[in-house]
Amino acid sequence: MSSIQKELAHPDIQVPADVQSNVFVTTLDKIYNWSRRNSLWPMMFGLACCAIEMIATAAARYDLSRFGMEVMRPSARQADMLIVSGTVTKKMVPQIVRLYNQMPEPKYVIAMGACASGGGPFKEGYNVVSGIDKFLPVDVYIPGCPPTPQALLHGLITLQKKIDGQSLMSVPWYPFGGNKGPSEPIPVPILGPDLIDPRHAQLLRQRAAEAAVAQMNAAPAAESAPAA
Ligand code: SF4
Repeated sequence: MSSIQKELAHPDIQVPADVQSNVFVTTLDKIYNWSRRNSLWPMMFGLACCAIEMIATAAARYDLSRFGMEVMRPSARQADMLIVSGTVTKKMVPQIVRLYNQMPEPKYVIAMGACASGGGPFKEGYNVVSGIDKFLPVDVYIPGCPPTPQALLHGLITLQKKIDGQSLMSVPWYPFGGNKGPSEPIPVPILGPDLIDPRHAQLLRQRAAEAAVAQMNAAPAAESAPAA
């Protein structure tokens, strides 16, 4: 029995030895997950210094073709994995969210390094977002500044394990088992004097109304105060 057959064979169904070269029995979930985990297509996309480590991982020494992902895709529409590798600035967030929305489902996000995971050394800087998970659903976080190629490989293996645990009947992108089917696009943030997340528009309007009322209440009190 080949290693692939051993990996995929149904543990409860024994196939007679004389037909094992032609027949093996597996489950739909196993074959579906095995196909996807071994053909992850990453988007060709990098943000800062972590991207250099990602590029090194794609070079011959670390052999990304083990994951079926040796060719990074130049279009979001051909990719199913987004490696957010580097500092996430407010200026770049609208582009990152737009690219994520263009990726077909199923799709996965890896936050590579301290910056993408939580802001890193620039956390709470005026121009930096404290982690891409404020906007996108992240599947795997990789610590480090920068993470080594080995750490990225470990993150990819962790993602493969996550894919192994999924089931056709419960994954959110198919309308089975009460799921709605493919997710709605994430509203693209608006970059102005600061970054505005449209998902918080209602809260922002409420805060603005409260601030306006507080200002109106403060104005008569200031007028009636005795002059110094
Ligand atoms: S985590 Fe470190 S190496 Fe990676 S982008 Fe941020 S500062 Fe650069």
